[in-house]
This record gives sequence, structure tokens and C-alpha cells, in this order.
Amino acid sequence: MSSGSESNRKGVRDALFQTENKRGQEVASEHLRALVSLLLPWFDRHKRDLPWRRDKTPYTTWISEIMLQQTRVEAVKGYYLRFVRALPTAADLAACPEDRLMKLWEGLGYYSRVRNLQKAARIVVERYGGQLPADYAALRALPGIGDYTAGAIASIAFGLPVPAVDGNVLRVIARYADDDGNIDDPAVRKRVAASLRAVYPAERCGDLTESLMELGATVCLPNGAPLCADCPLRSRCLAFRNGTVSDLPVRKEKPPRRIERHTVLWITDGQGVALIRRAARGVLGGQWAPPTTEGALSEAEVRKLLCEADCRILTLTPQPNYIHVFTHIEWHNTVYLAVVQAIPSQWRRVTADELQREVALPAAFPMPHALKNGASGALDALPKSKNV
Ligand code: SF4
Repeated sequence: MSSGSESNRKGVRDALFQTENKRGQEVASEHLRALVSLLLPWFDRHKRDLPWRRDKTPYTTWISEIMLQQTRVEAVKGYYLRFVRALPTAADLAACPEDRLMKLWEGLGYYSRVRNLQKAARIVVERYGGQLPADYAALRALPGIGDYTAGAIASIAFGLPVPAVDGNVLRVIARYADDDGNIDDPAVRKRVAASLRAVYPAERCGDLTESLMELGATVCLPNGAPLCADCPLRSRCLAFRNGTVSDLPVRKEKPPRRIERHTVLWITDGQGVALIRRAARGVLGGQWAPPTTEGALSEAEVRKLLCEADCRILTLTPQPNYIHVFTHIEWHNTVYLAVVQAIPSQWRRVTADELQREVALPAAFPMPHALKNGASGALDALPKSKNV
């Protein structure tokens, strides 16, 4: 990029977001008002038919927004329908037993989201008679609801002029305004929110929130792949005009993920598998999971460990290792399948049927193929007389 275009960009950005400068404010508002008038008609024609857009209520908006954090729309659809069918109101969610709740969330990951949902639902029942409050500050005060989600519920469900600024929206605005501010900087987020708030149209607050999200999710795509030819903002988009689309948005470099090595033990007696509840604090806290130890253990070390746990091993088979990625951590897991004579009582013995109906297993613990069709699958493949 030439230094000329850099200074041009800075001039434009200052004009768009220079809040102390009255002339700058006017230009910024005019440019963002143009965005609103281009975006809303496009949204009317192109919005996707999503389950949470039918039968929209504050409760369903809330559930969908929490599910959509860190999970793709396509993946959320089925979970959303199952969840709201099983728990159609905040009161149902508040009263749901923990294991059933985890089962309904199984596969979505980031389980702290559903724990916070339930905590918030209990407050909604106790304090607000089971209805979410139509107030940004009151929503923001509920567990699991941050600035973005409070803005989304306030605008989409209650028609309040509060923007919901997430990565999608920041990317669209950074490009539309040719703004090279670092979007991971809270100050940048704040000024984008303030600029947007000033142009929220009284009659269509929810639609503006949804249309910005929709454009970011379907047209102004991340990783240098925006579909500018299909974009309703193209005629006013400054990054498109200045040829800087591929430079934006600017982000902070993320620190590398921490690598942790574990050994996962799938232990079965042929009818059930051994599970433990993970410690309440830490990754996947309070979740059911197979026994797991730190480090990549050898077969001999696993045998010793199982003997110490009073397991009579019939067979012990290494399974394919795998990597599971969390936001800040990578688990590099070594896996064994142990068929034992009996599962010791310190572990919960869970049958295939219970796994199917009521016990949720986090995606970080994919079950070995030998166990997938029911715990007895493991024994079927074994020479039964062979004691190890
Ligand atoms: S023209 Fe391209 S860069 Fe600009 S908002 Fe549209 S998709 Fe994004």
C-alpha cells in the first residue's frame, strides 16, 4: 500500500470516527446512514430462513444467540430446535436437571455457556417472572450475557437501538470505513458501537443488527474472501474503493495455543463404559468423561495404572491418537481401549442406552469405533478366553 493511500485512509477514518470533531461526526453519520439504507432492503430480499427467525421471542433469540457463540449457523439449527422443543420457556430451562441439560447441549461444546444459561434463567424466573427484561443493562447483568449478546437481544427481541458488535460486524465496518484500527482493541469496538448506535433506525433496530450479522456471515467474509461483487455496500465501501479489502480487518496476533498431552482410557466390561465426572474447575469442568491422565502413557504404564485401580484387564488396545483444539489450548491425546472383567466402583458404569438417552459426552472425547455401536461391540471382536 502506498503512503498516499495510507494517509488517505487515515483521513477517511478520522472523518468517520473522530468523535470530538463535529464535521467528522456528520460525515461519519452520513456514511453510516448510507450503509443502513443500502443494507436493510438487501436484508429484506436475502435474509436466510433460520429457525430462530420464525416464532421469534426474547427467549428464543437469547437461546440462539448463546448457541451461535463459537458455533456455525448450520451446526446450531438442529440443536436449537431440539433445545427449545424440550425447554420452551425460561422456567423450563431453570428447572431442568443438570444431566438432561448437558445431554441437550451435547455436541455444541463450550459447556459453560449452558451452565450460565441456566443460572440466568433462574434469575429471570425469580426476578422478572420468567420473562427476559426489555432493558440493556438488566440483560447485560445476567450470567453469560456480554455486551454483544445484550445488544443482540435488546435490538432483535425488543427493538431497542443498541448495536451488537461482534467479529462479523467489526469486519464489515472496518472494511466499509477503511478503518485500520485493531478490532481486538476494546477502544475500537467501543467507537464502532457508538458510531452505529447513532444511526440505528427507530423502526428497524433488530433488522439492522441482523442485517449486519448476515452480511458478515454470507458476503463480507473473513480471511480475504469477501464477495464484493454481490455486496449491497459496494458503491460506498471505502476499502473496496481504496483497494485495501484484503488488508482488513487488522487484528492482534494471537499467542500460540498451549499444548497439553493426555492419555484417555476407554474402559469397558462389554456392557458398559467407565466414566468419571471431571473436576468442577478447569476445562470441561463437571462433565462426564472417560478416565484421563496427564502425559502420553505407554501401554506398560497404562497396564500398571489399571492394575492399581483394581482392574482385571482382558485386553488393552492402543487406539488412534487425536488432537482436540480449544480456543487457547490443544489437547494431544493418546487413547487406549481396555476391556476389563468388571468396572471398579470408583467409576460410573454407563450403558450404551444411558449414553444414548441421558449422559452427555463432550466432543473432546470421541468414542473409539470399537465402542460406538454399544459397549458390547468391544467384546464382540475379542478372543474371549484371552486374559492379559
Ligand atoms: S464491498 Fe466487499 S469489503 Fe466492502 S463491505 Fe462489501 S463485501 Fe465487504
